[in-house]
Amino acid sequence: MREYTTQMDAARKGIATPQMKIVAEKEKMQLEELMGYMAEGKVVIPANINHQCINPEGVGSMLRTKINVNLGVSRDCKDYDIELQKVMSAVNMGAEAIMDLSSHGNTEPFRKKLTSECPAMIGTVPVYDSVIHYQRDLSTLTAEDFIDVVRLHAQNGVDFVTLHCGITRKTIDQIKNHKRKMNIVSRGGSLVFAWMSMTGNENPFYEYYDEILDICEEYDVTISLGDACRPGCLADATDVCQIEELVRLGELTKRAWEHNVQVMVEGPGHVPLDQIAANMQVQKTICMGAPFYVLGPLVTDIAPGYDHITAAIGGAVAAMNGAAFLCYVTPAEHLALPNVEDVKQGIIASKIAAHAADIAKGIKGARDIDDKMADARRVLDWDAQFECAIDGGTAKAIRDSRKPEDDHSDTCSMCGKFCAVRSMNKALNGEYIDIL
Ligand code: SF4
Repeated sequence: MREYTTQMDAARKGIATPQMKIVAEKEKMQLEELMGYMAEGKVVIPANINHQCINPEGVGSMLRTKINVNLGVSRDCKDYDIELQKVMSAVNMGAEAIMDLSSHGNTEPFRKKLTSECPAMIGTVPVYDSVIHYQRDLSTLTAEDFIDVVRLHAQNGVDFVTLHCGITRKTIDQIKNHKRKMNIVSRGGSLVFAWMSMTGNENPFYEYYDEILDICEEYDVTISLGDACRPGCLADATDVCQIEELVRLGELTKRAWEHNVQVMVEGPGHVPLDQIAANMQVQKTICMGAPFYVLGPLVTDIAPGYDHITAAIGGAVAAMNGAAFLCYVTPAEHLALPNVEDVKQGIIASKIAAHAADIAKGIKGARDIDDKMADARRVLDWDAQFECAIDGGTAKAIRDSRKPEDDHSDTCSMCGKFCAVRSMNKALNGEYIDIL
């Protein structure tokens, strides 16, 4: 019999859980310090009691920035084996979390497979699954139906669930009156909004929040408070709809903490670069330091096909200013379901953003690998460079495809014998420098 319910409850009782010990070691942080942050809600370890094979990770702005990869089958791409291959390769590429956003067929076997085989944190958005689970149209579902799906996901071992608890009937008027350019672009948020509009009822995830907290406490499911009103274009960034919802998310964070339920807060989508730091600061204040999980932010609206780059720019600045968790964005964003190559590009871009932010934040040991890379570059040790690279395979393939004329040369074809590194090494060794 466990002496605690959630990781937060354990931290508050001064009990060091096995998950905390692993996270403290990974983060090179004293266990007591980690537990202090967890007791306050500033760090979470999403680890459902039924996800036995999890390799736990901590999420908090004082820890390494983590990345999430969204996968799952849809009506147009419904091969579970291909999706599982994508999951495993995402984990191998360094994704700490996988969100299963499946929107077709019987989703439970795949979800259970994930929580019995995948070591990464598993997240879901139960409202997506509700329609599929019951195979009934949205308007026919009851509040109880939605809550039952949250319970099912908790029983299946899901570590964190995105719940759009922050929009209420007041939001309907606000969206109608405020005249945003992009209204609501959150898929889950739009479903909740549509259900409220059709039934005339209050948001079930808001109205029955206490019941949800009981479920999350029982299975130690971390709530990721979804931001239904996240801006879907630069013009809507930091507007009244976004901030009003954020205030409610702050209140809901407090209520979760009173139940020892761990909480993350989801953040904006499209935000101009100069507003990102302020957004992070406002979130930190209103949500009392709860880990911030950002969806981008995308810093321009005009780069479909390259939104992994717009998101990486925003993600790096967001994480440097306090975001703890980055949701990856692929080149297929706004266009199509990502394929294997899109997923890879999205992960690499997010890893670069997270790593850049960790260096800027001064996370212990974050820059060690960059220093190792510099040492390898100084001595033109190419194999060592590929070892240090985020994607060594691609780096090697590019070099191999365009080697210098003299195949044994230690330089590369960019400068050949004008190689600054080679010239400096020779000059400092007192050697003759041949250029022609
Ligand atoms: S040839 Fe130029 S680019 Fe290539 S390693 Fe030397 S300095 Fe760097």
